[in-house]
Amino acid sequence: MMKTIGMIGGMSWESSALYYQWCNQIVNQELGGIHSAKILMYSVDFEEIKRLQFQNKWDEATLQMVEAAKRLEAGGADFIMICTNTMHKMAREVEASVSIPFLHIADATAKRIVEDGCSKVALLGTAFTMEQDFYKGRLTDQFGLEVLIPDEEDRNTVHEIIYQELCAGSIREESKQKYIQIIKKLEAQGAEAVILGCTEITMLIQAEDCTIPVYDTTRIHAESAVSFALIE
Ligand code: GLU
Repeated sequence: MMKTIGMIGGMSWESSALYYQWCNQIVNQELGGIHSAKILMYSVDFEEIKRLQFQNKWDEATLQMVEAAKRLEAGGADFIMICTNTMHKMAREVEASVSIPFLHIADATAKRIVEDGCSKVALLGTAFTMEQDFYKGRLTDQFGLEVLIPDEEDRNTVHEIIYQELCAGSIREESKQKYIQIIKKLEAQGAEAVILGCTEITMLIQAEDCTIPVYDTTRIHAESAVSFALIE
């Protein structure tokens, strides 16, 4: 029987909408007819969460993610996913707070990269994701990947565009060009592929914009959720 996917979403709702759409579409492609995904989504007010992130109040943000996970479990979700890379900073606490499985976004992505034979990857995401160890460290320690991140100025650009534009649903050609240039620089430094390590970047950058393979964490996470939901 198809499992019910428990999504912690709203960070931002723009990317959660893609998760919702893609999970439903993929289930329909797999099962046909008018089949659709079984989903419970706990969607937060991202302004509140962003404030906690920017004020470095990670403990409070963790409590909120844990609370969301528990509510999803109580509501009948069969497994949990956090629909943002950044909030995997508290993945361990969220995973430990429930008795159902947790589907980690970096694991799903890294498995694909390793299967494809890539070992040196560029990572774009929020400053938290690019600079802190919770994400990069996992890619390196558990999957043996070498991770390249943009220089400080470019990290600021990537980060600002995520919060100022993409999370507000604004897609600008000028920002797309900035991202493409940043990816090109990382490619020149030896990156064999690029991870779109923020769930909104897929709205700005597609595979055809780049000369190296693109790993879209939103798409990969949604695909792995459906695979997990459909295995017996
Ligand atoms: N959705 C973004 C991510 O995947 C950023 C939003 C957030 O800070 O959670 O990291």
